[in-house]
Amino acid sequence: MNYDLIVVGGGPAGILGAATAAAKGLQVVLLEKNEKLGKKLFITGKGRCNVTNYGDIDDYLNNITTNKKFLYSTLKSFTSQQLIALLELMGVKTKVERGNRVFPQTDKSSDVIKALQKHLEINKVEIRLNTAVKSVFTRENRVKGVTLSNGKSIQAEKVLIATGGMSYQQTGSTGDGYQMARQLGHSLVEPRPALIPLVTREPWVKDLQGLSLKNVSVKAIINNKIKAEQFGEMLFTHFGVSGPIILSISSYLKPFKAPVKLAIDLKPALSDEQLDARLQRDFDKYWGKHLKNSLDDLLPQRLIPIVLAQSGLDIHKQVNQVSKIERGLLVQALKNLGLTVTGTRPLNEAIITSGGINVKEINPSTLESKIVKGLYFAGEVIDVDALTGGYNLQIAFSTGFLSGHSAAAEKSVNSAR
Ligand SMILES: Cc1cc2nc3c(=O)[nH]c(=O)nc-3n(C[C@H](O)[C@H](O)[C@H](O)COP(=O)(O)OP(=O)(O)OC[C@H]3O[C@@H](n4cnc5c(N)ncnc54)[C@H](O)[C@@H]3O)c2cc1C
Repeated sequence: MNYDLIVVGGGPAGILGAATAAAKGLQVVLLEKNEKLGKKLFITGKGRCNVTNYGDIDDYLNNITTNKKFLYSTLKSFTSQQLIALLELMGVKTKVERGNRVFPQTDKSSDVIKALQKHLEINKVEIRLNTAVKSVFTRENRVKGVTLSNGKSIQAEKVLIATGGMSYQQTGSTGDGYQMARQLGHSLVEPRPALIPLVTREPWVKDLQGLSLKNVSVKAIINNKIKAEQFGEMLFTHFGVSGPIILSISSYLKPFKAPVKLAIDLKPALSDEQLDARLQRDFDKYWGKHLKNSLDDLLPQRLIPIVLAQSGLDIHKQVNQVSKIERGLLVQALKNLGLTVTGTRPLNEAIITSGGINVKEINPSTLESKIVKGLYFAGEVIDVDALTGGYNLQIAFSTGFLSGHSAAAEKSVNSAR
């Protein structure tokens, strides 16, 4: 069989790349090393798959943390509206939730995978599972095909590398594409974790393990400068902190360099004065009681001794004996609960790998390599990443679309000659 395009990797980027090129007349084979397609896609959004974000291009640019300019043409070439329309055509209706996050109506990532498989089928993409690619071979700087890990080879004039990043390696994303690209002369921006829980020094986080705080604001501070600030939900764990706003903050701390301070504002809706007035009301209500027994209306029980320890106040002091200055200390502890971040969890636990193929070596309008003719890249293997909200999957789909489209456009130029 003669192929025009070999796609390496059956995640969202590779699937869309393969189907798009095939829809435009290319003979395409999709090679996936796992026994099925889309293993990482299956676990996205806790199994619900936050498949894209309905925001406009400015919203995307605000939420992409690495190489947003590089992605501009890509995102314009295949928008979230086009993805939603494609899914609908393949039988999957979607719904929009808070923050323009788009999910399948069924809340099942498996339905998204089924729709993508149908897209491949309709466009007659040949799928080979349990097929791991080892390297890409070239002649005179032009792609000629791939060598498989079993030693066999497949020939084609074009190859799309869509092997993903390096996290959640049990899903198949083990960084193979980085090696393949490096052997062909591409440089790598060192892969590092993004959207990753943070490890903290303070042992008291263990006492709060499992406690989730909603509507708090967290600042990350480096050398007295605020590096990132997020509002929403966070979670204490046995090693430190996690949850949506912590994951977002982590994406602004890469590459991670200690020391980073976190300041948690437990009552961001109240000014210092309003919080002081609130404390006075609570102290009137709990007149004669110990401090540790008079903050239940304000804080989760487990947090009370921690906040009191940070304020420096005696937990056994009676509330009617607390002075104005001492109330001020308590307000400060409530508005700036401090933690010291010593590092991140390992790369394998990251929602996304930051770093990857250097974008300077990829043409942003076609996603073709500037080094090797006929070589294309799509998805997380490229040095791009975004915050949570469906942006990362849309990047995978859009880069997949553009690379497939470009590979096919190149063929029509060649055959017209
Ligand atoms: C827990 C979790 C939850 C997430 N939730 C969301 C979410 O809700 N919304 C969102 O936008 N993003 C989410 N993401 C991020 C999203 O999953 C990724 O951005 C996306 O999957 C990247 O797509 P990709 O096609 O580039 O790579 P991948 O999905 O990683 O696919 C790469 C494929 O290539 C295959 N492969 C690798 N090497 C080879 C080889 N040598 N030969 C053949 N095949 C190979 C792999 O087996 C894999 O199937 C989540 C990530 C994680 C880990």
